[in-house]
This record gives sequence, structure tokens and C-alpha cells, in this order.
Amino acid sequence: MKVGILALQGGFAAHARMLTGVGVDPVLVRTPADLDGIAGLVLPGGESTAMLTGLARDGLEAPLRSWARSGRPALGTCAGAILLAHAVTHPAQRSCDALDVDVERNAYGTQLDSFAAVVDAGGAFPALRAIFIRAPRIVRVGRAVEVLAHVAGDPVLVRAGATWAATFHPELGDDERVHRAWLREIS
Ligand code: GLN
Repeated sequence: MKVGILALQGGFAAHARMLTGVGVDPVLVRTPADLDGIAGLVLPGGESTAMLTGLARDGLEAPLRSWARSGRPALGTCAGAILLAHAVTHPAQRSCDALDVDVERNAYGTQLDSFAAVVDAGGAFPALRAIFIRAPRIVRVGRAVEVLAHVAGDPVLVRAGATWAATFHPELGDDERVHRAWLREIS
């Protein structure tokens, strides 16, 4: 099974390592043709503004948007979650509108640019340790969107069907549960 990872910028290598570790072939996606034949797509963390610049430069923005909006399996982490969102603020920028959430970028303030937290009890991923790096905050969750994990009351892992978004970095560390659970959407 081939799973694509958007590889224009940011943390695609860590996702590739994790996918390889769970027995999946990662395919680095850099051109529209790279989207052909993949069973799912990971949108990594990094800098969403730089990713948008690369997407526009390489003619990948419209193909990515329609791929992500098709409901095929997509997992966006941090900047990738920003790319999947319906609306983006702080500052505002374009997005794929593939998941009915609104996000505020860099929402956790300068002192807390990066931090680790254990998700709140009671979610689908007990005791998951979430690493946040200049993370966005999900500030609105649409009716069809399910929240799978919170941190301090904020939604940090959400899904609508096979479209998943995390505001943290499940590809860092060795807890494979988020990737494994998302990959079950494919099989
Ligand atoms: N702050 C970045 C952005 O706004 C996201 C950070 C990340 O992906 N770790 O795109």
C-alpha cells in the first residue's frame, strides 16, 4: 500500500519513518502526478505559508485541494492541519477547506511556542503525549467533526470520516497509535 506525504517543506521525513515502521510504503508527493495511485495522504507540519508558496509554484495547489476534498484518507499534522481547515486566521491564509474546522495559527503564544502535554483523560487515545510546536488552535469544530483528543479542553485531534487533523506532532516520538488508527481508514 502506498501512502503519500506532501514533501515540499517541513517534517515529511519523520512521517516517512513512522509509516515505514508500521509497514507502509511512503511516497513523497511533490508534483500533481505523485497523487496518482496513493491510498492516503499525509500533510506534515512545518510552515504552512511556505507550503502554500510551494504548492502554487509547483501547480499542486488545485490538485491537492480536490484530492483532500474528495474524502479520501488524509492526515494533516500542525501546518498540515492548517492546510486542511475550512478557515484560517492569525494571519488569514488560503486553505483546502477539506475539514470543517477553523484554526488560529501560532495560537499558544511566544513563551509556549513548543511544549509537550498529555491529552485529557476520556478521549480515544488515552495518555497520548502530544508535542506542540508553534501550534495552531482549533477554534471551531463543525457538526460532522468528531473530536478524538483534547488538551486542556482544546480539541487537538479531530476527524470527519477519513480526513484527520492533529494540531500536534504524532510523527515525533515512538507512539504509533494515531498513524495506525488513521491507516485503518484505508484498509
Ligand atoms: N506555525 C506553523 C504555521 O502556522 C505551524 C507549525 C508546525 O507545523 N509545527 O504554519
